[in-house]
Amino acid sequence: MNKEFFKSLFKDKKLRRSHPRFLIYQELSDAKTSLSPQELYQALLKKHRKIGLTSIYRSLDLFESLGVVFKIMNGTSVRYKLCETEDHHHHIICKACGSVVELNFCDISDWSKKVTESTGYQVIDHQLNFYGFCKACKPSEI
Ligand SMILES: [Zn+2]
Ligand SMILES: [Zn+2]
Ligand SMILES: [Zn+2]
Repeated sequence: MNKEFFKSLFKDKKLRRSHPRFLIYQELSDAKTSLSPQELYQALLKKHRKIGLTSIYRSLDLFESLGVVFKIMNGTSVRYKLCETEDHHHHIICKACGSVVELNFCDISDWSKKVTESTGYQVIDHQLNFYGFCKACKPSEI
């Protein structure tokens, strides 16, 4: 798990367990699946934790910028899933059911070199998503 993230999460030790950020993190961790901001809001409300949607969106934005969650965009729907891997990684998203798998390999250094050669930019980071159909959703071969 991201150290920077935990530092920010536990900055105020007194607030630790009731801090909205911690509760949102806990909820995503318990869910073991992706959640929409509305689902998070409802789940927290059920536990008598009323955290405003704005606050939820803000926390999710922060989590995303720290690489703690992955934002899954499918048409107009947005869902968030807690990342299991702390290190740099990529994701493949099923176009049918929206399930996500983390890919623990990244082999695009040649590609980065080509980007530098063609643009003169020094490449320091990249984001890349894969899309397809999971085993369950794969259209059967004819
Ligand atoms: Zn991830
Ligand atoms: Zn699927
Ligand atoms: Zn990569």
